[in-house]
Formats: sequence, structure tokens, C-alpha cells
Amino acid sequence: MSPLECDVLIIGGGIAGLSLASALAPFSSVVLVESEPTLGYHTSSRSARQLIPSYGPVPVLDLTRRTLDLLDGVQSSTGLPLTVPRSFVLVGTETGVDAQAGATMRRLTHAEALDLCPQLRPGAFAAAAIDTDCVGTDTDLLLEYHRRSASDDGVIILTGAPVTAARYDGATWSIRAGYRAITAEVVVDAAGAWADGVAGLCGVAPQGLVPLRRTAAIVAADDAPPVGSPMVAAADDSFYYRPDADGVLISPSESEPAEPGDAQPHPGDVERLIERLGAVTTLGITTVRRSWTGLRTQRESGVPVVGFDPGHPGFFWLAGQGGYGFQTSSGIAELATVLLTGADPADLGADPDRVGAAAAALRPVPVS
Ligand SMILES: Cc1cc2nc3c(=O)[nH]c(=O)nc-3n(C[C@H](O)[C@H](O)[C@H](O)COP(=O)(O)OP(=O)(O)OC[C@H]3O[C@@H](n4cnc5c(N)ncnc54)[C@H](O)[C@@H]3O)c2cc1C
Repeated sequence: MSPLECDVLIIGGGIAGLSLASALAPFSSVVLVESEPTLGYHTSSRSARQLIPSYGPVPVLDLTRRTLDLLDGVQSSTGLPLTVPRSFVLVGTETGVDAQAGATMRRLTHAEALDLCPQLRPGAFAAAAIDTDCVGTDTDLLLEYHRRSASDDGVIILTGAPVTAARYDGATWSIRAGYRAITAEVVVDAAGAWADGVAGLCGVAPQGLVPLRRTAAIVAADDAPPVGSPMVAAADDSFYYRPDADGVLISPSESEPAEPGDAQPHPGDVERLIERLGAVTTLGITTVRRSWTGLRTQRESGVPVVGFDPGHPGFFWLAGQGGYGFQTSSGIAELATVLLTGADPADLGADPDRVGAAAAALRPVPVS
């Protein structure tokens, strides 16, 4: 079989790879390869599905706002219900909430917080703040929208196709992905928890990316908040919960370093969380319907890494999205499209100053 030829090979079929594939398809010939038999199998099917414009370091806040705008545009043009309004309430001590709330969250009185989140026990928090610009997102629908839009624009998507070998001759990559040989001018590393490993395979130095475990569960509860209620998170990162169509989504908000892999909950993690939530809420959790763990992968700065590797002209990073992969997805795909094609941001409807600032903030930096 002769090699598949393309301008850009994207490695990884999660939200990062798929959103770039759909953004880039009108400009370049693109192939996307995914190790697993299904797209979005790893972290992208394991998130809390919330887009929070006040959450994250400054470049992330900006990319989140841009993503919300771009998703609004997609919703208007396609009618797809990609997002629903869902506020975010932060609770904790005065200093804890002050430290986390940033300038974009509005402080709530204790009574206001209890009114909005009546499942909280009054003694469980001293201070609260709210972000009302947040939305919940249907991540399955979003992934499928990008898959379809990319395919419609000619992107070839191969699943069950792990990249196992890569060679660069100074102008062209020769890649082995599953049983296929592929040639490409540029390789995009959107391999999530495996991104540093994929770089190594390509002879590129790592970015110091660390996969961090985070567990979540859907539970049934006697006093479940109705759909449309806010997501509630502890400022000390000890829990969050939000209403879900199947019950309540809960998480212990842990960030434990792990190896890349098919992460699973540790025995006892969900039980300890239920005990903790029993102390701070009246949720009255009765049954665990399902639980899972995903890997939020980030570099030390907590800022995603997007751009051509400084030591390799054919290697482009699209990794380190940490806990912000969905909320930054369209903004990052737009930025990556500008950097990969050299397009004028204004031609994409983007603000050149904003794109320039994001490119500088997210650029790959060699780790010593
Ligand atoms: C519990 C939890 C809650 C979260 N909540 C939110 C939230 O509310 N909002 C938000 O914005 N984000 C959230 N996140 C973070 C978000 O899910 C991630 O940032 C995002 O999914 C990362 O997407 P990705 O495409 O980079 O990685 P992935 O989805 O992991 O995709 C990478 C893909 O690359 C593939 N791959 C790896 N190596 C190879 C190879 N050699 N060849 C081919 N393919 C390869 C993998 O199989 C994988 O499918 C949460 C994460 C967790 C775990």
C-alpha cells in the first residue's frame, strides 16, 4: 500500500486533535491518527463538561472567552445545542475564595450562596463567589461536530492507528501509524498524556508534561440539585459537584502525578469523597452509578504548549491543556491554525493582537 500523503499529520483524536482538524481542514490536507479504536477515548471522554471563563491562568482565561464566542457562532449556524448556561460557585474560607476567585467572579453573601446552592451546609463555608458566564457543554456532541466537520472538509481520520515510528529527512516525515505509512510536512503532537513520549519518538526534546489523575463519578442522591443549578467547587480543591441528567457529578478534585495510561479510580477514592460531601452538603448520596479517572496533563507553568518546537521545524506542539482542554479548545485550534498556515488572524475573524499574545504565552520552551 502506498503511503498516505498530507501536509499535516495530527497525532491524537481527543478534543485537541479533533478541534484542530476541523479548523485546519479548509487550509491544508490533514490526516489524524488515533491509537484507540474510538475517538475521544481517553481524557476527552472523562471531563466534568464545564467551561469556566474565570478558571485558569491569564492566557487560559482569554482562550476560554474566545472558545465561548466561537462555540456560540457554531451553535447559531448549525443549531446544535453544544452548551447550556450553568453558573459556577466557589466556596471556602475568606482567604481561599479571595485567592481563587480572581477579578471575574462576583462575591456572594453567605445567604445568597445558600439560596443558590441549598445543598451546602451553612457551616461548611465562610465565603462564596460566582461566575455566571459559565456554560456546561455536551462534549460528545462537540467531539462529533468536529469529527464530522473535519471529515466533510476532507480530513482522513484513522482509528486503531498508534504512531510507533517517525523519521524526518529535513523536509518530510515518514510515519508508521498502525499498519499505515504516512508522509507529512508537519507533525502535530496532540497526544494528551502521551505528548512528551510522542515527541521522544520524533526525536524532539520533552516539554516536561505531567499527567495528573482526576477522578469523578455520577451518583444518585436524595437531595440532588435540579438540572440548571450551579456547579459548586471548594476553593481548597477538596471537592466539586454539579447537577447532571443522570444524577449528580462529583469529584475529589485531586491532582496526582501518574504515568500515561488508561487511568482508573483508586479503591476508596469515591467512598472517601462521598463521606466528605456528607459532611459539607445535604446531597444524601445513595448510589454510585459510574466512576472514572482521567489524566489532566500540564507543564509546570499550567499554561498549554502550542507552537512549533524551537529545535525542530517540522514538529508542532498541541498539548498540556490540563483541566482546560474543552474550555480552550476552539481558541487554541484557531491559534494553531494561524501558526501552522501563516494565515492572517484577521482573515479568520480573530484579533491579531490577541492571537499574538496567546502565541507568545503558549510557545514551547525547552526544559532543562
Ligand atoms: C475529571 C476531569 C474533569 C475535567 N473537566 C474539565 C472541564 O470541565 N472543562 C475542561 O475544559 N476540561 C476539563 N478536563 C480536562 C479535559 O478533559 C482535557 O484537557 C482534554 O480532554 C484533553 O484533551 P486532549 O485531546 O489533549 O487529550 P486526550 O483526550 O487524552 O487525547 C489524546 C489522544 O492521543 C492519543 N494518542 C496518544 N499517543 C498516541 C500515538 N502514539 N498515536 C496515536 N494516538 C495517540 C490517545 O489515545 C488519546 O486519545 C477535565 C479532565 C478530567 C480528567
